[in-house]
Amino acid sequence: MTQELIESVDILRPGKSLVVAIDGPSGSGKSSVSKEVARRLKLAYLDTGAMYRALTWFCLDSGTDLDDGAAVETAAENLPLEISTSPLEEYVRVGGTDVTLAIREPSISAAVSAVATTLGARTELIRRQRELIEKHHRRMVVEGRDITTVVAPHAEVRMLLTASEEARLRRRGIQLGGSQNAEQLAAQVTQRDAKDSTVVNFTRAADGVVTLDSSELDFAETVDAALSIVNGIVNHQALNRD
Ligand code: C5P
Repeated sequence: MTQELIESVDILRPGKSLVVAIDGPSGSGKSSVSKEVARRLKLAYLDTGAMYRALTWFCLDSGTDLDDGAAVETAAENLPLEISTSPLEEYVRVGGTDVTLAIREPSISAAVSAVATTLGARTELIRRQRELIEKHHRRMVVEGRDITTVVAPHAEVRMLLTASEEARLRRRGIQLGGSQNAEQLAAQVTQRDAKDSTVVNFTRAADGVVTLDSSELDFAETVDAALSIVNGIVNHQALNRD
């Protein structure tokens, strides 16, 4: 999509609420696509998965038993989290410790579902996510698993980014530098999604959510397709309003 096309609508108008909610399974390209969409539309950006990962890191670091729901919930309430909301820089800090890279380690990926399926912890992280959206005057791309349905069901744009299992496994394999064998990869992607989907539905689009299948698209094509969806919806809403 050309810059003129983006500017032809009032997407870039400051002060106008524009929440772009993007959900999808792991390996769908969600994070990189969402970040680029935020950059192009000059919106803030929130990676909610990084918040669940940071809480997992905090629990493991403090010796919290992940099977103890009440303890995980308390950890969520006490989580001293700083997270970037800019698509131009990436950082996650817990109690001043930079955990940006540590939260991407396979040990965190393996443990994160236990934390994310603790409903009390979810409630607290969802509260913080909504607070961040408001803090940015509702001009933000927010990505995760339950953004279109729970965190921001009234977002101006709601999208489900999917990809075939084969494409997702291939992308995660490349991301992890080929250091994982097929079984470890499957555990990271497929099994984690299966566990996660016991509490949130991110495999099928809810009513009003647009599905974008990126299986056959490269990164640039997926970003263009996502921007077209945003553009189409915002134009449609503007037409209906006028
Ligand atoms: O997106 P990412 O793979 O980094 O997310 C890590 C984990 O965080 C997911 O596997 C899921 O358990 C949890 N998560 C969630 N709800 C979200 C975002 C992530 O439960 N909105």
